[in-house]
Amino acid sequence: MEATHSVLVVLAMLLALIGAGWWMAAVMLGLSRGPALHWSVFCALGQLAALFGMFESSPRDAWSVGASNLLVLAAFVAAGRGVGLFLGRPAPLWMDSVAFGALVLVTAADMLVGLNPLWRAAMVSACTAAVLLRAFLANGRPLLAEFGAAVTTVVSMPFLLAAGLFVWRLVRMVAFPPQEGELLMTANTSVNLAALFALTGLAVLLNMSLAYMVLVRLVRRLQHLSRHDSLTGLMNRRAMMGTIDAELGRVRRGAPGWALLLVDVDHFKRVNDTLGHAAGDEALRRVATALRQSARQIDSVARMGGEEFCVLAPMTDLHGAALLAERLRQAVATATGAAPGGARVTVSVGVALSLAGQADTGESALARADRCLYRAKAAGRDRVELPAAE
Ligand code: GH3
Ligand code: MG
Ligand code: MG
Repeated sequence: MEATHSVLVVLAMLLALIGAGWWMAAVMLGLSRGPALHWSVFCALGQLAALFGMFESSPRDAWSVGASNLLVLAAFVAAGRGVGLFLGRPAPLWMDSVAFGALVLVTAADMLVGLNPLWRAAMVSACTAAVLLRAFLANGRPLLAEFGAAVTTVVSMPFLLAAGLFVWRLVRMVAFPPQEGELLMTANTSVNLAALFALTGLAVLLNMSLAYMVLVRLVRRLQHLSRHDSLTGLMNRRAMMGTIDAELGRVRRGAPGWALLLVDVDHFKRVNDTLGHAAGDEALRRVATALRQSARQIDSVARMGGEEFCVLAPMTDLHGAALLAERLRQAVATATGAAPGGARVTVSVGVALSLAGQADTGESALARADRCLYRAKAAGRDRVELPAAE
């Protein structure tokens, strides 16, 4: 067996295994279904192209050469479009269609009348490079927006390198026209062997970078879910406790003290009982929005559970905490009162201060705020209670 054919067998086997992996991810795990199916098609087409490549005989067999070329191109189209779909930005089909259509015409003409092999090989390289460059250019910006520079580099690089490989082939072909028998990428020459090795490496690299991209999004989503409340989108209790710990660390290193505001909706059970649970949920979302909009940029707002919210205000003294708490109380009443058809709710607020130089914990600050909140409830609700009165 010729050396180039051995590389093609290895490439086909690798793509078969990886393609099966994508198929399982899509069908069994339901993981990024559409894109994963595109990438399994990419592997399947690439694998077929490698197998067809083995039947290409010298000087040429127009049918298997054409099929192999079209399969390679379609494989890269599927890979690039899968990335676009994954990013929610599927590229317009016409761009890939132009390259594919051009190659179909070249293949048809080659089979019918027989083309100049150099011209045909140059067209194949140009069309394939165009599809790869299109994927590289179209996906770069949305990749950067969602994942940042590192992941964008990892995912874009294989497309660019593969495009570079075909451009290099094109330029080399024009500059040093090879003998007809050496024109096919599968012809057994040392340059072709190196190019096929590079293509195999790139195919594996591309799949690894796609899997990495899927994994990064999955991990980020899980991290987000574990730290946020699904009803309001605010931080949840776990995230708030972490934020409080970080603030305690800053205060230990010399930052000014901070305030903790515990905000509880008044008579919320009545809202559920009279207007229904859905209206209750909507009221909670409105409270959350009002708190987030009225708090300062540096404050952290969380839903601690049920109808209880918490605001961490860094660098805040008693006076600042009193102003902030009162602003939040009024904002909730105004926002929920203005909502047509919604429940007007009020909140009671308990405040705790954590002063610089004072040994404190998140739990103890919460317990102090809770005592103030209890007093606000006992004193008639819809009010703020400050720690000075403790
Ligand atoms: P108080 O003024 O003393 O705080 O009275 P309250 O009715 O607000 O307090 P209570 O603790 O008796 O009731 C809280 C209610 O909040 C009970 C529960 O059904 C409701 N609740 C908790 N979580 C949710 C939620 O996610 N959605 C809705 N709609 N209701 C919730
Ligand atoms: Mg309540
Ligand atoms: Mg409560």
